[in-house]
Amino acid sequence: MFQNLINGEWVEGPRASRNINPSDTRDVVGEYAQADVAQACLAIEAATRAQPAWGLSTPQQRFDILDAAGSEILARRAELGDLLAREEGKTLPEAIGEVVRAGNIFKFFAGEALRSGGDVVPSVRPGVGVEVTREPVGVVGLITPWNFPIAIPAWKLAPALAFGNAVVLKPADLVPGSAWALADILHRAGLPPGVLNLVMGRGSEVGQVLLDDRQVNAISFTGSVATGARIAQACVARMAKFQLEMGGKNPMVVLDDADLGVAVGAALNSGFFSTGQRCTASSRLIVTEGIHDRFVAAMVERMKALKVDDARKAGTDIGPVVDDKQLAQDLQYIDIGKAEGARLVAGGEPMATNADGAPGYYLRPALFTETTKAMRINREEIFGPVVSVIRAKDYEEALALANDTEFGLSAGIATTSLKHATHFKRHVQAGMVMVNLPTAGVDYHVPFGGRKGSSYGPREQGRYAAEFYTTVKTAYTQA
Ligand code: NAD
Repeated sequence: MFQNLINGEWVEGPRASRNINPSDTRDVVGEYAQADVAQACLAIEAATRAQPAWGLSTPQQRFDILDAAGSEILARRAELGDLLAREEGKTLPEAIGEVVRAGNIFKFFAGEALRSGGDVVPSVRPGVGVEVTREPVGVVGLITPWNFPIAIPAWKLAPALAFGNAVVLKPADLVPGSAWALADILHRAGLPPGVLNLVMGRGSEVGQVLLDDRQVNAISFTGSVATGARIAQACVARMAKFQLEMGGKNPMVVLDDADLGVAVGAALNSGFFSTGQRCTASSRLIVTEGIHDRFVAAMVERMKALKVDDARKAGTDIGPVVDDKQLAQDLQYIDIGKAEGARLVAGGEPMATNADGAPGYYLRPALFTETTKAMRINREEIFGPVVSVIRAKDYEEALALANDTEFGLSAGIATTSLKHATHFKRHVQAGMVMVNLPTAGVDYHVPFGGRKGSSYGPREQGRYAAEFYTTVKTAYTQA
């Protein structure tokens, strides 16, 4: 049984949940303790007690712990990648890549602990000095989704700890294994008791305690729009600081002058890799008239060759969908697309077993053509390997279609025109823009986040993470 970490002790929960491998549902990854309301409260109290001393720890202490954690994660990339692929269903190379990203994030924020400084500013008044410094926010609640089981906990934990906060992490119920491994690594790296608490359990129960407890000074959340809206309401009601990273309906524009191979490669990657379960996945391919038919034909050809199989098997391109609920949602949207009049030109068939006969949640990646901007499949986040092509007359119409969404996380363009690439970077309404690259797949040392309905609050990652995990103090001194 994998236990919760509260006040530096591993503790049983009143219940447990089984972590199931979506590539083979007969395979149980492990039994994980589920915390209840009382344990979540104990975790918050432990963090509250531990934070003041951690906030005053030296940057060297914080560097050493985060750097050691980063080193262990990187050294164990194969084993942790295997666990991640087994519990979430992304392919082994993708999972190992995610683990490496998590390790690098800890290394980056170890350095940030040393670099955090402030400003000394001349006052407008004679004889007065002004200092602007950053202090920890206090106790931070971290609530994470299932689709990046180690990277998202890492990109919240590392800056929170680097800047002197104490944390309570509530990972997604579906994938507790990677978060547990991360907590174990950080605990053994030498974090004082209570600085990091792990409470696995239901969002509506354990997550809700984090939202409502006044000792939790800030909430960092990644997940769905519906949960994000509840979190915003709860935090505003008690004036807690919060940041939300939510859904996407990310466009990729393909112009007549695009390199066809580059465009198809980027669209396949960002539409279908990680089984389309990335907030930065491109689900709307907006393709201009002159290249449309060639692009669709090339996509269909390449999609036929994609191997949908066990996430951990060599040669698998697309692993399973994460669970039965997500698979049902993907299939429902495929039906909706057909009923709306879109043409399913490839994929969309569920497979009850993989090539070896193991039962899992497999779905052949689906491509729709002849779709319009008003269709639900082009407006709502599906969060699976289901992609639409929208035909556009020219660049101007393509840009307007790209922006015609309530989301604004990532956007891409495939073009050889410097003029259009430059214009697109400036005018697309998204937090991240990619030229001749997939919309998904980002660096770990620069800001991540979106605008419109995709994100709320300060950016995550890179040096911008300080905005959320610190609060600014301005001190005046009369000499
Ligand atoms: P979700 O909203 O269902 O759950 C996210 C987390 O919130 C889980 O830990 C869950 O237990 C918790 N939660 C649920 N109800 C809660 C409540 N009442 N109070 C507190 N916590 C609660 O999302 P999911 O299905 O795990 O993840 C998929 C979603 O995440 C997609 O919409 C995807 O786009 C989004 N996502 C966004 C980003 C980004 O950076 N923008 C990154 C990855 C995933």
